[in-house]
Amino acid sequence: MPEIVEAEVIVNYLKKRLLGQKIIKINTLNKTSFIGNPKKVINNKINKIERLGKKILFQLDNLSLLFHLKMTGQLIYFDKKVFNSKNFKKDLKYARVIFFFEKDVLLFNDIRKFGFVLVLKDSDLLKEKQKLGIDPLSEEFNFSFLKHSLSKSKKNIKNFLMDQKYISGLGNIYVNESLFLSKIHPQSLSYKIPERKIKDLLFAIKKVLKEGLKREGSSINSYVKPDLTKGEYQNNFLVYKREGKRCLFCKKSMILRIKISQRSSFYCPQCQKKFL
Ligand SMILES: [Zn+2]
Repeated sequence: MPEIVEAEVIVNYLKKRLLGQKIIKINTLNKTSFIGNPKKVINNKINKIERLGKKILFQLDNLSLLFHLKMTGQLIYFDKKVFNSKNFKKDLKYARVIFFFEKDVLLFNDIRKFGFVLVLKDSDLLKEKQKLGIDPLSEEFNFSFLKHSLSKSKKNIKNFLMDQKYISGLGNIYVNESLFLSKIHPQSLSYKIPERKIKDLLFAIKKVLKEGLKREGSSINSYVKPDLTKGEYQNNFLVYKREGKRCLFCKKSMILRIKISQRSSFYCPQCQKKFL
């Protein structure tokens, strides 16, 4: 599932290619993958491409397209000449929506079909933005915000960090890595985490996201960049999917896996302290 890092990589890639272009045709190959009237979108120009948490937003002339990639959604870019000149049957197999621009083609691929593209009026976009928590790549994501919101939360820290209401865009991979790096047990109670550890956690989240961006995301399941190449952060995981392997910090304990709200959590029982 693409998280904030992967969405950011996709946005940066598409910005360079699609800004200013008009959408001239939309082929919807799977009905549930496009919500809204495609006719209203035709002849609209892409004025802005940005990220809303893990989602990707195209701002058009008087409406927006919001891409929910969910489990397996991909945005794949082609230069139109390349697209027309080659046989892309393999890549088209999971194409659910195809956007034709003046010069380029964008595929919305989705193996599992949980993802979708939503056409939004400006008023709905505002509501969508109001639902979001703080963006962890923004300056507002700082010590006072984190201290304040943790002090009011009775959730465990894993669920707190995954909750898009507080912080928008973090998912399982980057949360696991950040908790390991800051040596906080995922079942620690949010309001019990001491100030010095909140500082460590903030530093860890920023560091993990920065490293993830540098390596252009984690290609563990379906995530690929819009040019179909893979990210490389999966080769640098410190704890995620390292169950049964030796901890890279203490070099003694084995990494364990537990389920927290149906999602796997990986941690070192020796290094990561549980605050209760
Ligand atoms: Zn350890």
